[in-house]
Amino acid sequence: MRLLPSNSAAVLMDTGSVLVLNQNYEPLNVCNVRRAMVLVLRGKAEVLEHAADVIHSATRIFRLPSVIRLIQFIRRPRPRVRLTRKEIFARDGWACVYCGKEARDLTLDHVVPRHRGGKHTWENLVTACKTCNHKKAGRTPREAHMVMRRQPGEPRVSIYYAFFSYLGSQPEWRKFVPGYEAASASAAG
Ligand SMILES: [Zn+2]
Repeated sequence: MRLLPSNSAAVLMDTGSVLVLNQNYEPLNVCNVRRAMVLVLRGKAEVLEHAADVIHSATRIFRLPSVIRLIQFIRRPRPRVRLTRKEIFARDGWACVYCGKEARDLTLDHVVPRHRGGKHTWENLVTACKTCNHKKAGRTPREAHMVMRRQPGEPRVSIYYAFFSYLGSQPEWRKFVPGYEAASASAAG
């Protein structure tokens, strides 16, 4: 436990990060210590994990929260990946789906060409190198005798991915954030 002088305690109230869990223990977001303490003092949340730091007023010592859980369940929509060039390249591993080449100057290919009614959707957009895009031209892959290495579709987003950047410095959060151990293992291997 670390007792902080009051000036750095004030800074920590605004800069310290607290993991907010939904009532069902699913990670929801991250807030600062001040916001977390307001939620706890108003009875909207309970503290599950404390930070190592404590602050003190004239009469009391407070242990700072690190993980809190909301008392009421919050509903929220499933987050989705925005359909952009960059996200399509990322989905396809920054490589051409036809030849597998990783190129600097990747292009977007409409699998079914637009002039043939092909739509601007996850299912009809793939990453192609310039050579393959030129070779395929206004044809479908079948007509051009080109094979896609995998079927394009909407990527599944890990809804917890946004929390991963905190977990190196906040090890006490890890048990509440699914997928981190797997992600760090695959990043290492
Ligand atoms: Zn290619």
